[in-house]
Amino acid sequence: MSSMKTGKCFKRNLDSRSKIYTFQKYMNTHLSMKSGNEKVGRIPVSTTAADSCPPSCPFRFNGCYAQTGPIDWHWKRVSKGIRGDSYDVFLKKIENLPEGQLWRHNQAGDLYGKGDAIDPSAFSQLVTANQGKRGFTYTHKPVEGQAGRLNAVMIKSANRNGFTVSLSANNPTHADDLADLKIGPVVTVLPESQATNTVTPKGRKIMICPAITKEYVSCSTCQLCQKARRSVIVGFPSHGTRKKTASKIASR
Ligand code: SF4
Repeated sequence: MSSMKTGKCFKRNLDSRSKIYTFQKYMNTHLSMKSGNEKVGRIPVSTTAADSCPPSCPFRFNGCYAQTGPIDWHWKRVSKGIRGDSYDVFLKKIENLPEGQLWRHNQAGDLYGKGDAIDPSAFSQLVTANQGKRGFTYTHKPVEGQAGRLNAVMIKSANRNGFTVSLSANNPTHADDLADLKIGPVVTVLPESQATNTVTPKGRKIMICPAITKEYVSCSTCQLCQKARRSVIVGFPSHGTRKKTASKIASR
């Protein structure tokens, strides 16, 4: 944890959790140096094995956009260990990215650690490997209540140390709950019919991801999700072949 600012409380919890969550090298992570996804643009993009996805995510096997089409085929290969690298090798690749490089972590998959927990050792090493680069990602790992407390502490620390982790909300009401925590920026799934900018029940601005609304915009040019201090919530209308299912969750 050398490069991360950590409080006493976090260190105490980290010590106890490290005994439980050993470094899980069996989950592959794949890094493509130039994404083939036109919404991401030609920047490095990673994919982590599906075991990293938290069981608490309501979209898991239930409307997740990544479980359809070419991204699903790729993800399955990473999850089976056919593609990708051990986490150690992946970290080395991140470390070796050029200074200032923008990169997107996890077009599919979540932060390293099986189930709902973030593996503290793996996560702190990623934040360290990202030093000098401009990585960003999203997480559905729980951050609320007692169960999510340590995840929340780690995410807040990462957002202060150059690795931007957006909290993924299930709908605008949930986006308000996550934004109230003040540990990081927020993104939210929206009903498929929500094609224009809107607000949360508490009046926070939700901007539809410009890669969806505008031509020739990608993460590579937009870079909004890399900004850890943004107040605007990025909205993703439900899409993919399972958008009807996702849309029901986003409408709650
Ligand atoms: S808001 Fe910008 S950075 Fe975020 S996903 Fe959309 S295009 Fe990418």
